[in-house]
Amino acid sequence: SNKVIGVLGVQHDDKENAYSKDDFELFKSIGSQVAIWIENANLFAGMEKLAVTDTLTGIYNRRQLFNLAQQELERAFRYGRDFSLVIIDIDHFKKVNDLFGHPIGDEVLRAFTRLCVENLRIADIIGRYGGEEFLILMPETNIKKALDVAERLRKEIESMQVQFENGVVSVTASLGTVSLHSIWEKEDPKPNLDQLILLADEALYQAKTNGRNQVCGYSKP
Ligand code: GH3
Ligand code: MG
Ligand code: MG
Repeated sequence: SNKVIGVLGVQHDDKENAYSKDDFELFKSIGSQVAIWIENANLFAGMEKLAVTDTLTGIYNRRQLFNLAQQELERAFRYGRDFSLVIIDIDHFKKVNDLFGHPIGDEVLRAFTRLCVENLRIADIIGRYGGEEFLILMPETNIKKALDVAERLRKEIESMQVQFENGVVSVTASLGTVSLHSIWEKEDPKPNLDQLILLADEALYQAKTNGRNQVCGYSKP
């Protein structure tokens, strides 16, 4: 196909009209070879991106989220830093689909994701954990700060209005939070990622049973 993907420049320092027609043919063939390399590299980068992102929302998919969470947890142990996890689950999302249809539901999920991304701090990582469930990884963050960020996000979610042709949809969400240093002390065996997520899930369950649209932190029984 005929599109420009780069420019090949050739220059002779002291001779005018230094290159012949044959040279030009050579440059053309070098150019087309390099073009193939560049296209392949771009294609590969695109595929790598596909492999780590969720197609509906464009944020990290579940698999990549687990990879990154594992890395962050190991880093926290290695450097003795805190690390927080927040699970977000949209409240009564089934009703959104039932009332407005699945495509509008998808639109809400996209708007929801954008809102979260805009309201996170630069080091925080968000991904799609399940259908209408999201996970935020917060490196270097203690339980108090994590609860603050989660509460700020909850308020933003509550006031979001998703416009569509026939009206507007609003949702609320419940959030469960856990921090490494609030559940683990140096002499204890190290919790693994699954255990940490399970505790965040327990806090989320608490938020749901307490009436939804709220943030709960996991605290040791
Ligand atoms: P709760 O407050 O207890 O979380 O209620 P809920 O209705 O949100 O929970 P439930 O797990 O029963 O339902 C989740 C719904 O999310 C059901 C499913 O159809 C919907 N959902 C999951 N993934 C997608 C998606 O990609 N697009 C759309 N439109 N809906 C989705
Ligand atoms: Mg759910
Ligand atoms: Mg839900």
